[in-house]
Amino acid sequence: MDSSQIRKLTLVINSVILLLVFGLAGFFFMCKADFLVWFSIPTALVYVLGFVLIANQRYKFYVRLIYSWLTFYMSVTTICLGYKFGFHLYCLSMIPINYYTEYLAFKMDRKNINTHFMTGLIIVGYVVSTVYSSVRGPIYETDNLVAGVFWIFNSLVVIIFIVTYSSFLIRGIIDSETQLFEIAHKDRLTGLYNRHYMMEVLSGAESDDKEYCIAMLDIDNFKKVNDAYGHNAGDEVLTRVADSMREICGDCVISRWGGEEFLILVEGTVGGNGQELLERLREKVQKSNIVFEEKEIKVTLTAGLSDKDRNVSLDKWIMSADEKLYSGKHSGKNKVVV
Ligand code: GH3
Ligand code: MG
Ligand code: MG
Repeated sequence: MDSSQIRKLTLVINSVILLLVFGLAGFFFMCKADFLVWFSIPTALVYVLGFVLIANQRYKFYVRLIYSWLTFYMSVTTICLGYKFGFHLYCLSMIPINYYTEYLAFKMDRKNINTHFMTGLIIVGYVVSTVYSSVRGPIYETDNLVAGVFWIFNSLVVIIFIVTYSSFLIRGIIDSETQLFEIAHKDRLTGLYNRHYMMEVLSGAESDDKEYCIAMLDIDNFKKVNDAYGHNAGDEVLTRVADSMREICGDCVISRWGGEEFLILVEGTVGGNGQELLERLREKVQKSNIVFEEKEIKVTLTAGLSDKDRNVSLDKWIMSADEKLYSGKHSGKNKVVV
């Protein structure tokens, strides 16, 4: 979750709570629960202050102030009206939010904070208000039917809140995991898999039952491209060659093996579809017009192909494709060697 998402979520929650406070103030007025009507004024002011804190990105302070006040507010309401209204349930919904501050602190300042103390306060608010109101009864008498309606309403709000909040958090975790996967397994420039991840894929391919072949590819005379057009032009060539690979071998696993070398895992054998696929790729790259700063750059590539052999280790399989690539390099380049 980035800071703009955190800000948005916090603003929505603050606005919802403020609206709830106004709505409840009206209800307290109708019930003639005078103390709660007056108590709504500082409560509303705390949530208005919340907007100022969010605007200044004082999230940690915001979360602590706002949620400890909400716990306090709901506990006082429970003492005044009785636990049958279900206001104490809001205290429970504070617990996951409280732990969320641990994440916020880590995300913003890389600090580990302990929020168990705050959880303790929330539990105290919950227990004290429910025990007090069940032993002493409510301070303001109200209709049982109204209390029942509120119980259902408050339970639903708390349930909806917990469900929405949890799914938002899980979405955030999935997004972060996806980003981490990309960072750990992909090459930044080309978006292809990196060598480290490709080794994992190859180990899997080596041990499963399917037929595979690999192609080791290298751009010909790439150093000259860098020397003649500059390093940025070289980067553009790498990106465009990677695009061609994705276009031609959509179903293959393609990696940037290092520098201007690539390794492609193809399902099937060299004779079956591997050679034909690589020939198409070689031709496509040869025919491509790569334009960088209005200059046209032409490149070719050489590839060595090798079938998976159950009796040969992964290292030897890769080495065999590598040897074929270098034989192609020594016999004129711009070719696919099988
Ligand atoms: P050959 O046909 O024998 O493969 O010759 P070559 O010039 O392609 O090979 P050589 O190994 O001599 O040079 C490879 C060059 O690739 C050298 C290095 O600076 C360049 N290179 C490696 N990684 C990158 C990169 O990420 N960006 C750019 N622009 N150049 C890179
Ligand atoms: Mg090269
Ligand atoms: Mg090379």
